[in-house]
Amino acid sequence: MSDGFDVAIVGLGAMGSAAAAHLAARGVRVVGFEAAYPAHPLSSSHGDSRLIRLGYFEDPAYVPLLRRAYENWRKLEQALREEILTLTGVLQIGAPDCDVVLGTKKSAALHGLTIEMLDRETVRQRHPAFTMDEGEVACFDPQGGYLRPERAIAGHVRLAAAAGAQLHFNEAVEAIEPDDAGVTVVSAGRRLRAAKVIVATGPWISRLVPALRPHAVPIKQVVAWYQPEDGFLTVPGRMPSFIRDEGEEGSFFGFPVIGPDGYKVGRHLHLQEEIDPDQPNPPVNDVDLALIDDFIARRIPTGRGRRSRAVSCRYTMLPGETFLIDTMPGEKRIVVASPCSGHGFKFVSVIGEILADLAADGETGLPIAPFSFSALAARTA
Ligand SMILES: Cc1cc2nc3c(=O)[nH]c(=O)nc-3n(C[C@H](O)[C@H](O)[C@H](O)COP(=O)(O)OP(=O)(O)OC[C@H]3O[C@@H](n4cnc5c(N)ncnc54)[C@H](O)[C@@H]3O)c2cc1C
Repeated sequence: MSDGFDVAIVGLGAMGSAAAAHLAARGVRVVGFEAAYPAHPLSSSHGDSRLIRLGYFEDPAYVPLLRRAYENWRKLEQALREEILTLTGVLQIGAPDCDVVLGTKKSAALHGLTIEMLDRETVRQRHPAFTMDEGEVACFDPQGGYLRPERAIAGHVRLAAAAGAQLHFNEAVEAIEPDDAGVTVVSAGRRLRAAKVIVATGPWISRLVPALRPHAVPIKQVVAWYQPEDGFLTVPGRMPSFIRDEGEEGSFFGFPVIGPDGYKVGRHLHLQEEIDPDQPNPPVNDVDLALIDDFIARRIPTGRGRRSRAVSCRYTMLPGETFLIDTMPGEKRIVVASPCSGHGFKFVSVIGEILADLAADGETGLPIAPFSFSALAARTA
């Protein structure tokens, strides 16, 4: 191979940077390309915080991956000597039969996880920022907390570079050309050869992986930060990270105060507005803000105060709100990673390992069958 690379990585966001760090640590010769810079404002990976939890209500099948993700996050922290994962617990509130509560109980029962069921009075005493309706319950996952996305990505980039990965920023890949001997990765400035390529381009995934074009849909997501009058109620310890199931209105999520902007809230899927990833993010408008302000007025009334900041971000949705992690059908040299659907960040540390396995060894021992192209085809048939 002329350039001597084993693996090229396209996209050094959350997933690509983790794959680069895992591969470089194994002594694999890695080259990486990032169209902009890590965790930039048009990526899916900025905004200070991401939820992590173990009792996964979406599907118990994610729990084994989460166990490995927790191990890998702690290893990453040790390597960087920096805190990335902070345990605050995650409080999940809703009707006793809502998806969030039932799903968390199911995951906990199947995998022997500790969760705590709390009634309205107990929540009022322990976490007085939240209001609950008569008959609602709360399910507390003590393993839950938040991750620092910018720190994690910068850390993975740092480790990859220190282990010898060659990383190019502000250099978009324009084409990937596979042949019998490997792949050619084409950017404006160069043509590089590698044995394999990992495509982890987030909201732009279907640009280089046309097979995902009808399925991977980027949508607008909005989050806002608030500085309440009584800030004591929203500090970690008093306010855990949280998810609130609002029935037909979907679910809201949030984090305690972890920086000068205050505590943060958003609605999962927001207004489900499809966006063009090549255009600037649509601005945050009055409708976006009213949705979150109204939630706070109803559910965290003590948390009203000054809205200090609000930003748009991008989810890349797949059918079934799941992930795609697989080699291209009929092309084992191209590994594709589209693990978002609004909940992929907590898995970054294990997905980096999985992508490294697929690119270096052609297979992984970690359970990713639900994220294959054939599972996607079955879901969309
Ligand atoms: C507001 C918000 C809240 C979220 N909350 C949570 C949460 O609480 N918990 C959770 O687990 N997950 C959460 N998620 C989801 C999670 O953040 C994403 O799953 C994850 O960040 C996706 O990472 P990625 O690497 O796929 O994409 P990105 O980090 O966007 O990386 C893709 C990169 O590829 C680059 N790129 C694109 N095209 C090219 C090209 N042609 N050449 C070179 N580079 C290219 C881009 O510039 C970008 O940097 C949330 C997402 C958002 C937006």
